[in-house]
Amino acid sequence: MLKRGGTIGILGGGQLGRMMAMSAAQLGYRCIAYAPEGDNVVSGVCEDLFVNKWDDKAALAAFAARCDVVTWEFENVPVATARAMPEGRIFPHPRALETAQDRLNEKRFVEDLGGRPAAYMRVDSRADLEAAADRLGAPGILKTRRDGYDGKGQWRIGSDRDAQGLRLPDVPLIYEGFVEFEAEFSVILVRGRDGEIRFWDSARNTHEDGILAASTLPSGDLIEAQVGEARELARQVADALEYVGVLTLEFFATHEGPIFNEMAPRVHNSGHWTIEGATTSQFENHIRAVAGLPLGETATVARTVTMTNIIGAGIKASQDHLKTPDTHLHDYGKARVREGRKMGHVTRLER
Ligand code: AMP
Repeated sequence: MLKRGGTIGILGGGQLGRMMAMSAAQLGYRCIAYAPEGDNVVSGVCEDLFVNKWDDKAALAAFAARCDVVTWEFENVPVATARAMPEGRIFPHPRALETAQDRLNEKRFVEDLGGRPAAYMRVDSRADLEAAADRLGAPGILKTRRDGYDGKGQWRIGSDRDAQGLRLPDVPLIYEGFVEFEAEFSVILVRGRDGEIRFWDSARNTHEDGILAASTLPSGDLIEAQVGEARELARQVADALEYVGVLTLEFFATHEGPIFNEMAPRVHNSGHWTIEGATTSQFENHIRAVAGLPLGETATVARTVTMTNIIGAGIKASQDHLKTPDTHLHDYGKARVREGRKMGHVTRLER
């Protein structure tokens, strides 16, 4: 168990790290973070920020020397960076990053555990894409296997003609058949160092332009009926990876049951509602897990919960939300406003 006053290192400098560090402070820990040059909003709440490239071995060693345990807040941290941290002092284990960073590996891994992803085919050339669109049908979605997030690195293929006309990026790709889903949801769990697992309720997620717009609870009958099966898969993924910390799996709810979309080996935007809406938030339980503390209760504490993201220029009027007194505003403190960038979120509860 990490003693009070211990130091937790966070790889990554974004809002997820910022919210983790706020929970860590509450539990009596110190945080330092490591991220390349950028709008690293973790810095406002960390004792120190190492601004270095991901492959700077000397800087990574200096960072590791100051940490009692290390975790990450960003799933595209290079695996070699995570592996440069001392074995047994980084949680989750870097194998979780390795599994989740490549959409093809991730789908095969989940299929081996009995999960059902959307129909997919590997695409390394135009001929592969045409074969995939032919076999799986269009519409479909072409995705980069690595480094995609918030709808980036994705192209909707509406017809065979789209497949012929697209300029293919020179990176490994995957084609997915389009899932005619009724709704989307995520399973968020925390697994402790002793293997104990706790789940939060699954919110209904709505996306706009590939970016999460809102998460709401209750999630409705269809999702509620599918959460059990989805949790079983998430539990198997967590156990297979000997995972420690918060793990997220995203699903499409269809009339044929839950279809696995993707996993994130970290706290997740669709779990931000847990800060006010659950007994223990995803951030606190992540810190508890990586620090080896007992996990907190995950029960929802309100009748309804709505978490809405503030994207891009919407942040300029964010304080207007506070005119509704039961609204909780989270401003990530980002200096640069960009279209499609997650700038903050608001959560409303009805008790
Ligand atoms: P992803 O980054 O893969 O989670 O994709 C972002 C969003 O795009 C998802 O949450 C869905 O709304 C949509 N999407 C992605 N893949 C598919 C698919 N195969 N079929 C239908 N919609 C999809």
